[in-house]
Amino acid sequence: MQYQSTRDRNTVVSSSEAIVRGLAPDGGLFVPQAFPAAKLDAWRHLSYPQLAAAVLGSFLTEYDPAFLEQAAKETYGAAFSGKAGQVEPVADGLFALELWHGPTCAFKDYALQIMPKLLVQAKKNLGRTERTRILVATSGDTGKAALAGYAGLDGVEIEVFYPNDGTSEIQRLQMVTQTGDNVAVYAVNGNFDDAQSGVKRVFGDETVARELAGRGIRLSSANSINWGRLAPQIVYYFYAYFRLAETGGVAWGDVVDFCVPTGNFGDILAGYYAKRMGLPVGRLVCASNKNNVLSDFIRTGTYDRRRTFYKTTSPSMDILISSNLERLLYHLTEDETKVAGWMAQLAETGCYTVDARTLARLQETFRCGWADDAAAARTLHDLWAQDRYLCDPHTAVAFHAAARQRTAAPMVVLSTASPFKFPRDVLAALGLEVPASDFDAMDALTRATGSPAPAQLSGLKALPVRFDRTLDPAQIRTAALAARVSEG
Ligand SMILES: *Cc1c(COP(=O)(O)O)cnc(C)c1O
Repeated sequence: MQYQSTRDRNTVVSSSEAIVRGLAPDGGLFVPQAFPAAKLDAWRHLSYPQLAAAVLGSFLTEYDPAFLEQAAKETYGAAFSGKAGQVEPVADGLFALELWHGPTCAFKDYALQIMPKLLVQAKKNLGRTERTRILVATSGDTGKAALAGYAGLDGVEIEVFYPNDGTSEIQRLQMVTQTGDNVAVYAVNGNFDDAQSGVKRVFGDETVARELAGRGIRLSSANSINWGRLAPQIVYYFYAYFRLAETGGVAWGDVVDFCVPTGNFGDILAGYYAKRMGLPVGRLVCASNKNNVLSDFIRTGTYDRRRTFYKTTSPSMDILISSNLERLLYHLTEDETKVAGWMAQLAETGCYTVDARTLARLQETFRCGWADDAAAARTLHDLWAQDRYLCDPHTAVAFHAAARQRTAAPMVVLSTASPFKFPRDVLAALGLEVPASDFDAMDALTRATGSPAPAQLSGLKALPVRFDRTLDPAQIRTAALAARVSEG
C-alpha cells in the first residue's frame, strides 16, 4: 500500500515514510491510495490485539506481520486491563464504546501507545539512524497520551505544547508530572489553535529543519495528522461491530450508526475508513461543542473559522481548524487540485465552500449535531439519572447529538475519556456540590456513583511537577531548537 498527499498525487510514499514524515512536504496529509477490503468473516472472532494486527497489516503492508502482532499484543493487553474496545449497553439500541481504559484514560491511548513502536520500526524499515524529535500541540489528552507512549524510547524525543488554561487541571497535571529524560512540556499563551498553528509553522520552517539536520535530528509529529495515529483508530469500529453482532445488538450484516465527539476529525474519520473498507456503518454523526465549525460545515458545505473561539467543558474539542477534514475532502472528491484550493482559501481567508456535489457526497454518510455546555451537562445528568450511565463532558456532547440523530439502526457513541479526568464539571452536571480541589472532586464522584477513580488519575496528587515554563506561540520555534538532555 502506497500513500499520497491530499494536495498532490505525485507525492507518493511508503507507509513507513508516511509515518516518519507526518505531514507531506506540500503541506498536505498522507492518505492511502486505496481502501483495503475488510475480511469481516475472518476478523469477527479475533481478540482485540489480533484484530488490530490484521487491520493495521492491511494498511502497513511493508511491516512484518509478526512485528505487528507482537506490537499489538504488547499494546492492547494488560495496559488496557482487558477492556480494549469495551462496549457497554446504555439504553435500548444505544451503546457506549468505552475507549478510556488505557494508561492515560482517553481514547488517544489507542493510537499513541502503538504509534511509537510503528515509528521505531518505520525508521528501521527505511534504514534511518537520525534522532526523531516529536512536536505535539495538544488540547489536553493527546499530550499526555503521547508523553506516555514516547517517554524513555531510544532515538526519540518529545516536546508537548498545551494551551495555558485550556485544559482541565487533571489533564495539565498528567502532562507536567511526566517522567523521562527525553520529554519536555510547555504551556503556550493562547488557545489550542494558537499552539497548533505555532507547531505547524515550525514544521514548515526550513531553517529549523536544516539546523536540526546538522545536529542529526529530524522533526516529526504525533498529532492526528500522522497516518500512524489514524490507522490504529480504525480497529475499534470493527471490534465494536463484532461485539454487537455477538451479543445480538445488531444482526450480522445490518448497519450500525456511530456518533463521535469531534475536534480534529481524526476519530470520526477512522470510522469513515472502516466504512470504506466494507464495515456495515450507516451514519457517522459528528458531534461538536459550542465550537461548532464542523457541524455547520456538514450542514451547509461552508467551513468558516472566522468565529468566536469558546472555552468549554469539553476542552479536547475546542478546535476551529480541524486538520483531518482535509483527508475526507480528498476521499470525497479524489481531486487534489480542489482540496489544495480549499485549503489555500482557508489559510488566506479563514473560509471555503465546497461544491454541491461534494456536499451531497458528504451528507450521504455524515450527520451532525452540537451541544453547548449546558446541554451537555443536562445530557450527562439525565444519562446518569435514567440509565445509570456515567460519562465525561466530551462523551455527553455526543450522547446529546446521538439522541437527535437516531434511526432504526443501533447507535454506538464513542466514549472518549474517563469522567474522572473532569471530576468537577461532572459533579456540577450531576447537580452535586463541587469541592475546590480536583482530587476532592474525584472522591466525591466516587461516593456519588460508586465508580472508583482510575489509580493513574488519583495518584497524580503525589507526583512532583517537572515542567512549569510558559511560552508565547512565537517561542515554540526556540523550544523546538533547544538542546535536550538526551542530545548529551
Ligand atoms: C481528542 C479528543 C476528542 C476529539 O477527537 P478528534 O480525533 O480530535 O476529533 C474527543 N474527546 C476527547 C476526550 C478527546 O481527547
